[in-house]
Formats: sequence, structure tokens, C-alpha cells
Amino acid sequence: MRPVSIGVQAAAMIDCPIRVPLIVHAKLRKIDVKDPVDLAAVRRGRLIHAAFEEAAVRLDEAGNIGDEAIAAAEIAGTIATALPELDIRAVAAQASSLAATISAAVAGRPGIDVAHERRVSVLLVPGVMVSGRVDTVVEGEDGWLLVERKTGQRHPWHARQVQLYADMVLAANLCRRVARLELWYSGGESGTVEVPHAPGERLEALRAGAARGVALDPGAAMLLVQGGCEGCPRDDCGVKRLARLASFRG
Ligand code: SF4
Repeated sequence: MRPVSIGVQAAAMIDCPIRVPLIVHAKLRKIDVKDPVDLAAVRRGRLIHAAFEEAAVRLDEAGNIGDEAIAAAEIAGTIATALPELDIRAVAAQASSLAATISAAVAGRPGIDVAHERRVSVLLVPGVMVSGRVDTVVEGEDGWLLVERKTGQRHPWHARQVQLYADMVLAANLCRRVARLELWYSGGESGTVEVPHAPGERLEALRAGAARGVALDPGAAMLLVQGGCEGCPRDDCGVKRLARLASFRG
């Protein structure tokens, strides 16, 4: 049987000890527990990401990725084409922060290679995987710089997400060393945040959560839902749906 897969964002987004076990329990039974999302915000973020990647590849090929002014103009043009409805000042703000961060990331790093949307999957326990795509990887002689790009507000889970990616690329042997983790915010609260990394910690916790989920029988899962999810205020957690299912209400 094909393993079920948890997304990296779903695994990192909410710091709740029963969430991963219940996601795993539900997925193994084909119950939909996808988190509800703001589709307009997701579309906008995706288009900005895609425009940045397109521009960054062109800049890289032309050898201009470290030139902040050229990068800002190129990224602005690509974002404006992808999102013609976006205000010109918003385009400029997105482009200048992304150009500044990528120029700073490649500056002074010999032999660098920039890649986007690196897929990575790791088997957590038999039958359960975690999968995702690292937004940007800057490969240098000193190891990989892993980047998670965000266009919205800052949240603590963004750090957990990039930490999990770091554990995953090491576990999947995609690189020998992770040199640095960064969050790149563009638009409103733009800027770069360096994230600390304790190798293996996130993946180990996730494996424990997945193992707990595999071991849950329906009765134990129901008790967790009744004891936790029924009174939980987090409406952005798809697991809350289980509290409304008759099979989980007993
Ligand atoms: S609904 Fe609340 S208690 Fe239940 S898994 Fe989600 S965050 Fe945790």
C-alpha cells in the first residue's frame, strides 16, 4: 500500500501535541483533514513566488543575481506581469526586499548555485511520509543555505517549517551540511530572519507523532478529539473537523 503523506506546512503550522497523531490517524482512514485556507492569499503568494523564481533563474543565468538594482528591476517586471492587479508600490516593495535578500545571500559565497522548489520526502514510520518543497536553496562550498519565502505576516511556525526542511534534506542525504536557515519576508514586513537549527530535533518529534498516530485505535482517537479538539479555538486546524464527525463523538 502507498504510504500516506503529511505536508511540511501541515506538520509545522500548529504546535499541538495531538495534531500530527490525529492527522495520521485520519489519513490512514481516508478522512479529509486538510486545513482551511484563504484561497485569495494563497493565490497571490504563489504567483509572487513563481515570479521571483522565474526572475531569479534569468538573473542567475545572466550572472546578475548579486546586483541588487538589476535584480530589483527584473523581479519587479516579472511580478507586475504575473499580478497586473497589484498596486505598483506593492510590486516595488516585494521586488526590492527580494532583490536585497538574494543579493545578500549570494554575496561573498564562492561557487554558489541557486535552486528553487527542491522536493524532499522522508519516510517517518512505515506507511507514513512527510513531503514538501524547499522554496530556495543556495548551495555553496560551506553547505546549503535553505530559504523559506513568505509574503504575509510573520509567524513562529515559519521557523519550525524551515527547521524541519533542514532535518529532511539531511535525512534524505540531499546535502552533507546545512550552513544556514533563513526566512525571507517580502512586501509589508519585509526582511530576513536567520533561524537557529538543532539538527534532527524537528524530524524526531514528527516521527514520534506519526508513530503515535499509527498506533491510535478509533476509541483512543475519539477520546483525543473529545478531550482536545471539541473545545479548541483554532478554526484554522482541519483536524477540528473530526470533532463534528459522528464517529468521533461516540
Ligand atoms: S483542533 Fe485544536 S486540539 Fe485538535 S488537533 Fe487541531 S489544534 Fe490540536
